[in-house]
Amino acid sequence: MDENLAKRMRFCKTLPSIPAVAIKVVELANDPDTDMIQICDCIAYDPALSAKLIKAANSPMYKSRRSADNLRQAVSMLGTHATIIITLSFSLASSLMKQDGNHQNRINSDNYWRRTMLSALASRALGEKLGFKSPDDLFLAGLLQDLGILAFNAMMPEQYMPIFAAASSHDALLKLERETFGSGHDEVGYELLKQWKLPDYITMACLASHGKPSPQEVEPTQADCVAVSGYIADCLLNYGDVATINAAVIAAKSWLDLDESALVEVIEIINFSLQAAQELFEINIYHPSELDGIMSEAKELLAMHNLVKIRELEEKSQRDALTGAHNRGYFDTALEREFELSSKQGLPLTLAIIDLDHFKNINDTYGHPVGDDILIAAVRAISAQIRQDDIFARYGGEEFVVILPGTSLLSSAKLLVRLKDSISAISLDLGDGRIVSVTASFGVVANMDGNLRFEHKDDLIRAADQALYAAKRGGRNQIVVWRSSLAGVE
Ligand code: GH3
Ligand code: MG
Ligand code: MG
Repeated sequence: MDENLAKRMRFCKTLPSIPAVAIKVVELANDPDTDMIQICDCIAYDPALSAKLIKAANSPMYKSRRSADNLRQAVSMLGTHATIIITLSFSLASSLMKQDGNHQNRINSDNYWRRTMLSALASRALGEKLGFKSPDDLFLAGLLQDLGILAFNAMMPEQYMPIFAAASSHDALLKLERETFGSGHDEVGYELLKQWKLPDYITMACLASHGKPSPQEVEPTQADCVAVSGYIADCLLNYGDVATINAAVIAAKSWLDLDESALVEVIEIINFSLQAAQELFEINIYHPSELDGIMSEAKELLAMHNLVKIRELEEKSQRDALTGAHNRGYFDTALEREFELSSKQGLPLTLAIIDLDHFKNINDTYGHPVGDDILIAAVRAISAQIRQDDIFARYGGEEFVVILPGTSLLSSAKLLVRLKDSISAISLDLGDGRIVSVTASFGVVANMDGNLRFEHKDDLIRAADQALYAAKRGGRNQIVVWRSSLAGVE
């Protein structure tokens, strides 16, 4: 941590402080021999806290089946560990909210607490989804992860406020803090939590939550959940904003290897406990009437995000990696569909196979990478000529195929000549005085054109191949249209 800042923290009298009851609870938390009676005695000192704990034990947030009428029952239902953590959550949240509220230079406090509470709930929901043993630890860590913001504001409000206001996102804020003060709110919060003697796993989760994702092969940690929680909170606060959805999806994937549908489940868990949390923590995040709408919109956006990704993957799987043209798989499906349409509806369809001439020589003379560049140039040249409805694919090696649906041989003639000319116009300057050019041969055939009709799409391909063979034999760099006399000459 930045030395000046550490000094300033040590001497600052206005830093957020930990309430007396929480100090006592922390002592109990750090003592392995703590028993239920000690915890009850400690909490009973604070009637408001006791009432809250009983309410918590009965709330859907903690999913108890029985109901608790008194503190002892509540503590026994929740268990000692969860009681300690929940008590700390209540007592710290209410004390910090109060201190921040009294502060003359309040940061935009409502937003801070809405985001903090949503992060805490998101952290806990992630822990639940991933099967962590005590998700309440995650709630507390989520609640305290941005304590440093309150500390900064308490220490140096005049300098901090403009920075807080200028940051466009949480990550941007952290960056600005580091640039301006040498350390971010992650380190400042960590120092304060250490002073408060909070258990290490809480302080560490707060510190690491603003770091980098751990490697994929390592099991997700509490800190990873806390790290993702802030992004989910942003998603729920700026609902409808695609950028925050993207950021949450990326964070969930890289920190926890969770996909969009897992995030939808996490939002469902948050939704389940949100109302109870608002009541227990006396904070207004959403009006109950807004809640359903916001939650379903977030879920819908995530589901859509998934669809977009699937479509992108599908699209990618239909492209040839070298040239970006559609690939053979795409062509096969397209031809099947177009051939059937043409046959059924009696509409003409023209198909051309385009094979680069003496391509092997190009590879042999100039090397394979130059051959690759010629292939890329050929795809560019062809793509520039055809219409959107035309189908164009790399058929294999240096062979391409074009399907022109609804187009007779006669009407396709001009386009095919343009394609041939644009390929022979390619001139690849190697920069050493050598210029590479290429020509192509075309085998063309039509279905449902005059009395030309084929039984099966494979017959059409075979015919185009025969025409191509004739073009090669005829001297290359030419277009040959199939006629029945070419059958069987291969
Ligand atoms: P023809 O005029 O009779 O078509 O002769 P050709 O040399 O073009 O035909 P041939 O089928 O003998 O050779 C095709 C060559 O295309 C051989 C192969 O190495 C090359 N080729 C196939 N795919 C690629 C590729 O992705 N990149 C490069 N650089 N070459 C490729
Ligand atoms: Mg070939
Ligand atoms: Mg060839």
